[in-house]
Amino acid sequence: MRILAFCAHPDDVEINCAGTLAKSIQRGDEAYIVNACLGDKGHYYIEPKEIGKMRLRESQMASKVIGAKVSSLNFSDAELEINHTNLELFVKKIREINPDVIITHVPDDYHLDHVAVSKLVVDASFLVSVPHCYPDQKAMEHTPQIYFMEPYTGISFVPQEFVDITDTFDLKLEMLSCHKSQIEWLKEHDGMDILDFVKVSAAYRGFQCGVKYAEGFQRLTTALRAIPGRFLP
Ligand SMILES: [Zn+2]
Repeated sequence: MRILAFCAHPDDVEINCAGTLAKSIQRGDEAYIVNACLGDKGHYYIEPKEIGKMRLRESQMASKVIGAKVSSLNFSDAELEINHTNLELFVKKIREINPDVIITHVPDDYHLDHVAVSKLVVDASFLVSVPHCYPDQKAMEHTPQIYFMEPYTGISFVPQEFVDITDTFDLKLEMLSCHKSQIEWLKEHDGMDILDFVKVSAAYRGFQCGVKYAEGFQRLTTALRAIPGRFLP
C-alpha cells in the first residue's frame, strides 16, 4: 500500500502519526509526508524566512529516520485558504502520490491551517478519481481511504482504531527530536514539553487498547469510504 500523511506543518506528523507511518513502512508500505505550510510563523524571534528554511531541513531529517518521502506545498502559516485554486493543488498532489490511505487532521482541530488542510484533503481525495476534474492530469483509479489523527493535546478525541506503536515508538521520538526549533517554540509559547507529551499521549492510547504505546485514529466512513477491512497497520 501507499500511505500519505497530509498535514499542515512540519512536526504535525511526528506528534500524531509517525509511529503508524514507521509501522506501515516496516510491513512494506511506501510512506509519504506532505506538509501544506512552511511552518514559518513557529518561532518567537527567528524571522519567518529563516525559520521556514530551518523547518524544511528538520522535516527532511525526520523523514529520513524512517525512509518516508517528504514534500511541502510551501504555504505561509495561517494563509492557507479553502478555495478552488487550492483544491486543485491538493487534488494534483494526491494524484501524484496515488495513495491508498491518507492520514490528515481531524475536521474540528484547533488551528486554522489544520482545519483548512482537513477540509481540502477530504474534498480533494474524492475528486482525484473524477477524470473531468483537472483533466490535464490522469485521474486515480480509486478513492483513497481517509483517517483522522488526533488533534494536538487530544482533547475530546475518541479513537475508533488503534495502532500498536510499541515497536516504533523510539523512531517516533527520534523523528520528533529532529524538530529542534519546535521543541523550543512549544516550550516557550505553549508551556509544553512536546517530547514528554507524546510519551504520555502514546502511553494513554496504549492503555486504552492494551499495549504499551499506541496512536488513535478516526475513519471517514462516507460513501465510497466505508470499505470493509483494516487499512492501518
Ligand atoms: Zn500544526
